[in-house]
Amino acid sequence: MKFLADRTVGKLAKKLRLLGLDVADWREGKLLQAAEKAKAEERILLTRSRRIKEEEIGIQIFMVDANDPRQQAREVLTKLGVKPKPEEYFSRCLRCNEELWAIAKEEAQGGVPDFIYRLYDSFHRCPRCRRIYWPGSHLERMKKDLIKTLPGSKDEPGLAEAETPIL
Ligand SMILES: [Zn+2]
Repeated sequence: MKFLADRTVGKLAKKLRLLGLDVADWREGKLLQAAEKAKAEERILLTRSRRIKEEEIGIQIFMVDANDPRQQAREVLTKLGVKPKPEEYFSRCLRCNEELWAIAKEEAQGGVPDFIYRLYDSFHRCPRCRRIYWPGSHLERMKKDLIKTLPGSKDEPGLAEAETPIL
């Protein structure tokens, strides 16, 4: 299942990308152009806007109710029955939605703070924005946040300790 997120759900898009889901952005241009793109790529439009009508643009729309991005993510996963794959967590650029490429440690030199370069051996790069990702404490925090995002996680305390691969 692939998505297109409009401006009303930008933070939600990032949360879903953390889980490895394919969520393209729609930031500018006319609604009909975005609809064409969504149609061609079989994407579901995620939005909080109530002005957009499914029948007018001929694509599937998921209207997000919650205010909180984490709740929004749960809403999408639960109502659409999406099951993110742990091996795909952290596989995309949070800004661009591009799939990250593994790079040699040497390629990260100069592109990340020195102490980060010394600390880690595994680096990934976004092919579009060139941003470099590494497995750091910020990812650990995101990992916890991400697991809380998953439906049913509150009832399954064991899940919070589950090992998930990070970049
Ligand atoms: Zn990027």
